Parts: sequence; structure tokens; C-alpha cells
Amino acid sequence: MPQIIDGKAVSAQIKDELKVRVEEMKKEGISLCLAVIQVGNDPASSVYVGNKKKACAYVGIKSEAYELEESTTEEELIKLIKELNERKDINGILVQLPLPKHINEDLVIRTIDPSKDVDGFHPQSVGALCIGQPGFVSCTPAGIIQLLKRSGIEIAGKECVVIGRSNIVGKPMSLLMLRENATVTIAHSKTVNLKEVAKRADILIVAVGKPKMITREYVKEGAVVIDVGVHRNENNKLCGDVDYDDVAPVCSAITPVPGGVGPMTIAMLMNNCVESAALNR
Ligand code: NAP
Repeated sequence: MPQIIDGKAVSAQIKDELKVRVEEMKKEGISLCLAVIQVGNDPASSVYVGNKKKACAYVGIKSEAYELEESTTEEELIKLIKELNERKDINGILVQLPLPKHINEDLVIRTIDPSKDVDGFHPQSVGALCIGQPGFVSCTPAGIIQLLKRSGIEIAGKECVVIGRSNIVGKPMSLLMLRENATVTIAHSKTVNLKEVAKRADILIVAVGKPKMITREYVKEGAVVIDVGVHRNENNKLCGDVDYDDVAPVCSAITPVPGGVGPMTIAMLMNNCVESAALNR
């Protein structure tokens, strides 16, 4: 049986470590506050925002919620972000995506002060990651690195294949694995012979957004498999991009869905908030 990589346990461990650090920071007079902005009331976004607020409360970070009407204009949103940029008591600004279609997401992301960009989506944060400088890193890929390290999985020198090249997951994931000295291949929808490419991987990271697409035909015997996908199947049960039951018997370690990558994203958001407060003290 493979090692089941327990994202729930690792995420709880990180949040507990942060809680202790936040208590110490508060004793030194450092305040921590995350501003969370949601435009409209998309039910999935409301769940994510609720979970972020809960995690803040657990770790000891104040959260300020801005629940704006769907009809909020781009100008109004930009104005709010600029006000939050100026406020010394706000360490992090998070705008829940997706935004309504009439608002330019890129412009909104670029308006957030990079020193408060706890989602790591600002071009300055992405550029810093690219050239190996300090900066905020997108939370899901940063969480996967923690998951690998804290599960005792060696990264340096390993063949890593990342399937997916989105700005939020695939690209930053590839850069982080490179930073950890893996030999990295990025695959995508135009990759020829995906099965052969994927089978080269010692560590296979899947972020394709297609339920159960990755079967054992894509996986080298003994590989580590990280499943970023989250989907609800016909029975309303969660599943990933990897066909877990098919792949688990051939790999050495695997993340389940739920309970694998998912819980890590919020833990790393909390980590970025704490780092932001520590840096801008
Ligand atoms: P995305 O923006 O849709 O990107 C999907 C990527 O997969 C694209 O680069 C696409 O290639 C590639 N792809 C699609 N079909 C493919 C195929 N048949 N063969 C090879 N590559 C293919 O998705 P995303 O935002 O990166 O998210 C990926 C998954 O992770 C989703 O299920 C999402 O829900 C989940 N997710 C989970 C978390 C979490 O916290 N657990 C966070 C973020 C996302 P092209 O570029 O060529 O189109």
C-alpha cells in the first residue's frame, strides 16, 4: 500500500505552529489583519471565504470581511483596494476570484500592494518567484511543497512532471519544484504522448481540472502522485484529477481527495499573512 499523504494533518500542524507565532508577535505589539473581499454571492466563493475567516480566527489573525454587491463597479472595488493598501493595520488583502465579468481581474490583482499580496497573484510576486527572489507564493503550490517536505519526500534531483500550466497552480508549482532542485517538465493540453511524458515522473503533480483523468497508465511504478483537482461526481462526492483507486496500488505515495492538497491552501494563506505582518512590522 502507498503512503497516504495526509494534508489535513500537515495543515493542522502548520496552523498550530502559526498560532504560537502569532501569540508571540502580538506580545511584541504586532497586529495581524487580513482583508477579505468578495463581490457577489457565488455559493462556492462564500464557502471558501467562510473557511478563510474561520482559519484566521483559529490562528489569531483578525479578518475584515467586505461582502460587496454583484453590481459593484470596477472603480468602486479599485477604490476600496487602494484604501486598504494605505491602511497600516491591514497586512494582507485577498480578493476572492472569480470576479463578476464586468470587472477586470488582472487590473484588480495589479492594484493590490505587492507587500500585502497574500495570494501571490500580483505580477511582482510572480516575477520574484521566477528569478528566485523573496515574495509571496501562490498558496496551493506552496502548500504542495510543504506537504512533500513534511511527508519526508525528497525533491532534489527527482524527475518531476507537472500536468497543467495555469497561472494559479501549474506555473508556480513548476517554478517551486525547480527552486527545490527537481528536474521539471510542464505538460499541458498540447503535449504529445502525455502518458509517456507523465511516466517519466518520480513526482507527478496533476492540475488538469478533469475528474479522474489520470489512471495508472500515466504513472511510473513507485512514483509519488499529487492530485490538485477537486470535483464533485454524480453522487455529489468529491474526487480529484487522479483516479485514486486505480493509481494508488502502483505508486509509493499519493494525496487523497478530499484531505490531500485542499486543506494546505488555507494553511499557506495563513502563513503568508503572518509573513506579511512580520515583514512589514
Ligand atoms: P485550469 O486553469 O483549468 O488549467 C488546467 C490546465 O490543465 C491547463 O494548463 C490545461 O492546458 C491543462 N489540461 C487540460 N486538459 C488537459 C489534457 N487533456 N491533457 C493535458 N493537459 C490538460 O485549472 P487550475 O486552476 O490550474 O486547476 C486545476 C485543478 O485544480 C482544478 O480541478 C481545480 O479545481 C483544482 N484546484 C484546487 C485547488 C486546491 O486548493 N486544492 C486550488 C486551485 C485549483 P492548456 O494550458 O493547454 O489549456
